[in-house]
Amino acid sequence: MSARIIDGKAIAATLRAAVAAETRRVAAAHGLVPGLAVVLVGENPGSQTYVRNKSRAVVEAGMRPFDYRLPAATGEAELIALVRKLNGDPAVHGILVQMPLPQQIAAARVIAAVDPDKDVDGFHPLNVGRLASGLPALAPCTPLGCIKLAKTVHASLAGLDAVVIGRSNIVGKPLAQLLLAENATVTIAHSRTRDLAALCRRADLLCVAIGRPETVRGDWVKPGATVIDVGINRVADGGPARIVGDVCFAEAQAVAGAVTPVPGGVGPMTIACLVANTLRAACAQAGLPAPQV
Ligand code: NAP
Repeated sequence: MSARIIDGKAIAATLRAAVAAETRRVAAAHGLVPGLAVVLVGENPGSQTYVRNKSRAVVEAGMRPFDYRLPAATGEAELIALVRKLNGDPAVHGILVQMPLPQQIAAARVIAAVDPDKDVDGFHPLNVGRLASGLPALAPCTPLGCIKLAKTVHASLAGLDAVVIGRSNIVGKPLAQLLLAENATVTIAHSRTRDLAALCRRADLLCVAIGRPETVRGDWVKPGATVIDVGINRVADGGPARIVGDVCFAEAQAVAGAVTPVPGGVGPMTIACLVANTLRAACAQAGLPAPQV
């Protein structure tokens, strides 16, 4: 058996096109052009690439980008002052401060300074709490992307045994909350989980966000299961560097019913969900109904 490969690139392109169409409609009907401010502190090459891709996606979606590049030595007070200025700017509907931040800045204080209504990353404690309480919330983009990918395989996630490996605030925990909201039966695993392989073998839906290359092997996967691999790991192993996931793709593909590749799976969905969140935030701030994207 060879699993269906979940084409995140194509699914993300479809979502981005839908967001762009809805953005055009909202602009024509209400004169509302969503604006996203992206703030990058320092010169981390990975972050620079992410930020460039995000700004490009914003423009392609018909939205207004506001890009801020601050030097690596920027102080916390200065960054929070910029965040507050953006909170008060009516042309800015979403604010994203690219992580990681230099060590002199406490990320938690910066996240808490973002207006929760403009928190398109879904990291503000108010949005985290709303998500956990089952209230409407801006949810983090990568977990949202995972849910959308899983739903291309399963019309409903209700009743599925879902295992999430990883409990980070960015991926694992919000993904578990979103799965719970979809009525899946959710187990969260982490580095202290006992007999992880056996736990994974129970999963109809296995979501992996560990940050360790090819940790999940084929014999961890229940035959026919859906596997969503969030991991992005650069490995060299003697040859040219390549990107692999947290799942051994070739082994999983032989057992699973459907599996995301790395690259080209979850990765492209994150930016597509960011533009969707920006449109959603803009509509909410303008008192318009939530967009159907
Ligand atoms: P993280 O903050 O480092 O969290 C990793 C989680 O995995 C932790 O909860 C950790 O457990 C758990 N873990 C580590 N080793 C484990 C093991 N051997 N067995 C079971 N659990 C283990 O990472 P993250 O930010 O969630 O990111 C995870 C991966 O996703 C990374 O590769 C990252 O690059 C990628 N990522 C991709 C996107 C995207 O757009 N596609 C976005 C974000 C992240 P403890 O809590 O016990 O330490």
